[in-house]
Amino acid sequence: MGPSRKIAINGREFPFKPGETILQVASRNGIDIPTLCYLKRATPTGACRICLVEVEGARNLIASCSTPAAPGMVISTESERVVRSRRLNIELLLASGHHYCVTCEADGNCRLQDLAYKYHIDMSRFPERPPRYPAEMENEMIIRDFSRCVMCGRCVQACNEVQVNQAISYGYRGIDSKIVTVGDRPYINSDCVFCGECVQVCPVGALIEKPSRFKAKAWEVEKVQTTCSYCGVGCQMFLHVKDNRVVKVTGVEDSAPNYGSLCVKGRFGYDFIHSPERLKAPLIRENGRFRESSWGEALDLVAERLTRIKGESGPDSIGILSSARITNEENYIAQKFARAVVGTNNIDHCARL
Ligand code: SF4
Ligand code: SF4
Ligand code: SF4
Repeated sequence: MGPSRKIAINGREFPFKPGETILQVASRNGIDIPTLCYLKRATPTGACRICLVEVEGARNLIASCSTPAAPGMVISTESERVVRSRRLNIELLLASGHHYCVTCEADGNCRLQDLAYKYHIDMSRFPERPPRYPAEMENEMIIRDFSRCVMCGRCVQACNEVQVNQAISYGYRGIDSKIVTVGDRPYINSDCVFCGECVQVCPVGALIEKPSRFKAKAWEVEKVQTTCSYCGVGCQMFLHVKDNRVVKVTGVEDSAPNYGSLCVKGRFGYDFIHSPERLKAPLIRENGRFRESSWGEALDLVAERLTRIKGESGPDSIGILSSARITNEENYIAQKFARAVVGTNNIDHCARL
């Protein structure tokens, strides 16, 4: 790296790699430049103007998320001019909708709230804009509260660039601006597949997991990291637990293999956990009806039947189907059992079908 490939941020010099933005150099070196619309896995847009910084010699403040570092840049991230501009933008965002935090699902987990607090804004100087569109409540998974949308565009980027679902985009103009599906239809009648990526990235309370609404404030939950059990991909997820009940599921950002993304089942299909219909003991069918049994009785019965069938018809009359919803170790044991205990190669797996 040439000695000239350096920039100065807040009086300290840092080297940079070709193509790195000012924001990336700053964050790699522990300097916090606040952002709102910036989404790590997508193309920076510079839409929200929160990450503006002052660059010596430049007439205007510039968006650090979308401006590449250049040799010799001298940058201030918290100068008086920067802070004044940031405060103004935050006030305008607060006035752009109905930001009453008390009953908002994002309270305690809201980027706009954090920014207002950080920059000591207890009230916007501008009048609140009345809601243009009613909240969309048509489906069982996602609420769209347009009155809290700050038009940052993260949901659009997440849907189009991260998930590549192309279900939403920008619609209308000026104060009528709105995030829309094709034909401005509700999610349920659109190309949306309810992966919830847009909800995960929404920095405010404009997109909400409907099943989680009013279940817990952000600070009341314990987040427990686990692996999704729906398929063999092994997505990493957080279970948000309050009073020993799962109230929400989110993807673990920065963690392979899913880096925060989940599918509709992983994100919303957790009601089985506390379902009263959940099986808790083995069932044995007798005379066409099921009865609960102990594990010992059930396993003895299976062993006795397999032994009898093998004796009467040979090991290849038995086949074993395994599952993508169990661990590699359990699948290994299943094939070992088929081959070494039963004596057949008739072992298969649901994910192959
Ligand atoms: S979106 Fe954020 S700022 Fe707006 S009401 Fe909810 S918590 Fe408050
Ligand atoms: S839930 Fe998924 S598919 Fe639907 S709009 Fe959001 S990101 Fe797009
Ligand atoms: S819904 Fe959320 S993520 Fe999408 S533009 Fe509005 S505030 Fe941003």
